[in-house]
Amino acid sequence: MLSTRLHNAINAQVNAELWSAYLYLAMSLDAEAKGYKGVANWFYVQFQEEQAHARIFMNYLNSRDAKVELLPIEGVPSSWESVLDMFKQTLEHEKKVTSLINNLAAIANEDRDFASINRLNWFIDEQVEEEESARDMIFTVESVEGDKYGMYMLDKELAARVYNVPSPLATAE
Ligand code: MG
Repeated sequence: MLSTRLHNAINAQVNAELWSAYLYLAMSLDAEAKGYKGVANWFYVQFQEEQAHARIFMNYLNSRDAKVELLPIEGVPSSWESVLDMFKQTLEHEKKVTSLINNLAAIANEDRDFASINRLNWFIDEQVEEEESARDMIFTVESVEGDKYGMYMLDKELAARVYNVPSPLATAE
């Protein structure tokens, strides 16, 4: 059985992942409004991934016979100064998510809840990738800064990003 503390913390994480989804959806809409359809697509894929993260935690709570309680989702900003600003905030946000996931793993360790540790290990690896991809995007956008044609080409490239179902969902559903 999950400890009450871990149950509540994972339930809060469901909300945090849905908030992340909401944040990236807002960035996608703002990018679209600014004329960057490729950037909008990149953030839309990010939005889909965050919904999947929430689903993975929901499935996990269900599988442990622990009830999911959906909490209100806080509002998000609706516009950003620039595309670069969006990716910088993405990195800052993902660093916060990493610390939330680490906190869950610390609780699972204290509980000696090995099934939860296993599930959280997937998220620990995922956060390394999330931070790396945000850093890569910052580097890429900075390298075309002030170059309209470069930004146009980058936007075209980002339009090709596709959503892939994360492995825990590919087998769980
Ligand atoms: Mg996430």
